[in-house]
Amino acid sequence: MSMKKKNEDVVVAQSAGFCPGVKHAIEQVMALEASGKKPIYTLGPLIHNKQATQMLEMKGILAIDKPADATNPRGVLVIRAHGITPDLQKEIETLGITMFDATCPLVKHAQNIIAKFAVQDYTTVIVGDKEHAEVIGLMGYTQNRCHVVSTLQEAQALPHFDKVNVVSQTTQQESTFFEIAEEIKKHADQCQISNTICQPTKDRQRETMEQAQHADLVIVVGGKHSANTARLAQLCKGLTKHVQHVETEDELDENLVKKAKKIFITAGASTPSWVIDSVVHRVTHLRHPIILKVINRP
Ligand code: SF4
Repeated sequence: MSMKKKNEDVVVAQSAGFCPGVKHAIEQVMALEASGKKPIYTLGPLIHNKQATQMLEMKGILAIDKPADATNPRGVLVIRAHGITPDLQKEIETLGITMFDATCPLVKHAQNIIAKFAVQDYTTVIVGDKEHAEVIGLMGYTQNRCHVVSTLQEAQALPHFDKVNVVSQTTQQESTFFEIAEEIKKHADQCQISNTICQPTKDRQRETMEQAQHADLVIVVGGKHSANTARLAQLCKGLTKHVQHVETEDELDENLVKKAKKIFITAGASTPSWVIDSVVHRVTHLRHPIILKVINRP
């Protein structure tokens, strides 16, 4: 995502938009489509963004809920950047359909760390969202000794462990992870802390927190079901006067946009650049309609 400054008082995050893992998965799927492979199934939506999912459907790239929904054996079944459990992978292999694994290498890294300690009899505690596809995939590597917690209160309620390995969902907030890890230390004889938050997430969160302090309106662009987008909006609360989480430019609070002195626009890891551009365009138009007319003149 390139930095765009339409005017001095509106700043767009350099880190806004697709993370390397999502970008790579999309590029791989587009390359499959361009090579004529049909149909292309993805196990769950390739990215958590309604607009992008609609665009992919128009190209014949179909999101399915379970491997058995891939009814055409000549198709290709793509595993998303989030990854899956080893059991689900075996199930796909028995179907005989071609499988393409687009699991992000940074998610694979987290899976490998879990597997390495699980075989040494460590119980795994994952700091993350129980329902999230990545976390469900990570749980598959724990040898069925696993807890998932997302709050300090949940960590306080954990039992005592002989050996525990604390890992993180890759998009978790770092301060939350360390706070929970400190609590879990008190519950174990041996505690391994494996910070598996990915670097692109750390960079995005750091930039968002820095810039939010200088803005009086932060606009976070991305799907309402995208956990990492919602977390960005959450991070800004308390750092700036107003935070708006929007999926498209139509949801902007025009009054706030016109009145704000300084606006910072950021976006989740699954927000396409054209959605961000539309929001930036509308913001600029609302604040400086004359400038935009000149920019748009052929
Ligand atoms: S958020 Fe991080 S780990 Fe997850 S897909 Fe993107 S780059 Fe990979």
